[in-house]
Amino acid sequence: MSARGAASTAHQGEGAAKAKRPLAAALLVLALVWGVSAFSPFAWAQSPENASSSEASPSSQEAPPAGGKTDNDLDEQLLPDSSFIYDASIVDLYEADTYYDNQTVRVTGEAVGDNIRAGISGEYRWITLQATDSTFAEVSVFMTSEQAARIAELGNYGTRGDIVSVQGTFHLVCSEHDGLTDLHADSVTIIDEGYPIEHEFNVREFIPGIVMVAIGAILLFVFSRLRERLR
Ligand SMILES: [Zn+2]
Repeated sequence: MSARGAASTAHQGEGAAKAKRPLAAALLVLALVWGVSAFSPFAWAQSPENASSSEASPSSQEAPPAGGKTDNDLDEQLLPDSSFIYDASIVDLYEADTYYDNQTVRVTGEAVGDNIRAGISGEYRWITLQATDSTFAEVSVFMTSEQAARIAELGNYGTRGDIVSVQGTFHLVCSEHDGLTDLHADSVTIIDEGYPIEHEFNVREFIPGIVMVAIGAILLFVFSRLRERLR
């Protein structure tokens, strides 16, 4: 009788330990799900306040150009023959649309990368224009050094480059430049000046990771205690 009682209490104790295991496993799964979501690329993208501050700076710069840059103004001179100009997107040119081959096109994009000297004379430069939409398509623009000199900021990791509108002739296979797909600029207009992009080190973004490591340590402790009890 007493032996049976002892056996049943031992059995109950084992049952209680077993009941704790699903709970601990559920906690572990929860921590993993949270951890994965915390470390997803979205969490590392620009935080909303950074995005809004970077958008705030160009609008504050928008006021001065109205009076300032007269030699960069676009439309008045270009409009008379605009019936032969195609307003193209950079991705159209990037996808080598034959429709635009040898046509006068006008594209707008961010000047990115390097200002490269074209040839040995130093009269011409290569500037890369990148689409400002999500395609990030690019086109190589062949322009005079004078035109290229107007572009103050070239986009890179720490800089939003100048937004530039280029009107010129698109060559799918340029005979002048070894068959390169390029755009020979007639006119270059700065639409919006570039500015530095701040990539702030934000300690708050590390908090979910730290909490997750702490939960992991606690779970490890709980599991080791449970295993010892089961022996
Ligand atoms: Zn060319």
